[in-house]
Amino acid sequence: MMADGYLRLMEDVLRDLSHLDEYVPGRGVDEVAREHDLDPDEMVKLASNENPLGPPPAAMEELRENVEEASVYPTALHADVKEEVAKYADAPVENTVLGAGADGVFDTVCRACIEDGDDILCPEPGFSYYRMAAENVGGAANSYPIPKEDGFRYSADAVVNSYSGEKIVYLTSPNNPTGSVLSLDEIQQVADEVDGLVFVDEAYWEFSSRDSAVDLVDRGDIAVARTFSKAWGLAGMRFGYAVVPDELAEAYRKVVTPFSVGTLTLYAADAALQDTDHVEETLELVEWGREYLTEELDAHVYPSEANFVLIDVSPRTAEEVAKELERRGVIVRDTTSFGLPECIRVNVGTRDDTKRAVKEINDVCG
Ligand SMILES: *Cc1c(COP(=O)(O)O)cnc(C)c1O
Repeated sequence: MMADGYLRLMEDVLRDLSHLDEYVPGRGVDEVAREHDLDPDEMVKLASNENPLGPPPAAMEELRENVEEASVYPTALHADVKEEVAKYADAPVENTVLGAGADGVFDTVCRACIEDGDDILCPEPGFSYYRMAAENVGGAANSYPIPKEDGFRYSADAVVNSYSGEKIVYLTSPNNPTGSVLSLDEIQQVADEVDGLVFVDEAYWEFSSRDSAVDLVDRGDIAVARTFSKAWGLAGMRFGYAVVPDELAEAYRKVVTPFSVGTLTLYAADAALQDTDHVEETLELVEWGREYLTEELDAHVYPSEANFVLIDVSPRTAEEVAKELERRGVIVRDTTSFGLPECIRVNVGTRDDTKRAVKEINDVCG
């Protein structure tokens, strides 16, 4: 019991969040195993676009070696790793910022740019966190289409035609969950024709055949975000970065959480950057897997330059198909929450896991 008049009611403390939704993650192995009474070791998870080869061996070793530093704040280490990341991205270190995942970077950029009444523009279907990060600081999100009727072709014209003064325009290339890409020419076209910041999300860039938009950042109106969660195999460590224009880099430093990236995370990221064998092996596997999925699945597979493909399972619904696959020990992403109730998204797994997934999907849909 709370004494009346001494404590505010929680509802007076909270702001009105009734218009917001929680992030819907892909389902985890333990959760699904428990629900269907399956052995977690026998399950295949291809629902969150994680690296099927696990973390880079060099990163695991570095984590073990430096575990005692978990008690200290990273200061010099943060600066050192930022320098390595900038070198890898081929960007000036002054323009490079780090965060707890690309999501942490989006949060911080929104904190620097968005206030009550400001809007952002993002892809539909697309990654839901852009909207959440803007709403968290009082902003709102509008969208532009990547239309299914058009085979999910991503076009600069669709972005420009939907633009109505938003402060940040997100371009996701390759896009999640469609796998479609924008060319650098189209990214520049968008930047030429809109006001505000064009924020290019290159979370899946390593898997694509495209040049990076990092070289466009010195125009002053383009920023590029990347992550170590996908190609680099460190999703659980939460490490992302962005290359941003000068003024935004300065603002970022003013609003970022102190020590937003953990000491062990920095060690792991630094070691990962030295272990290029692991990334190369990952890219080779993904190239094999995209082709295998595209050729061997009986359902329609959309072209993808990421580490996953989007599959049309109609006339079945994604919900039915995903449930049935779970009972068979294969976890895929039902894309209903992306507004695509007739599609599932499946990332490339190990060769064995990818083959097993194809067999089960063909069985369920066949
Ligand atoms: C996975 C993903 C991210 C990165 O997430 P992290 O916070 O770095 O784990 C960013 N954008 C898109 C489109 C993604 O799919």
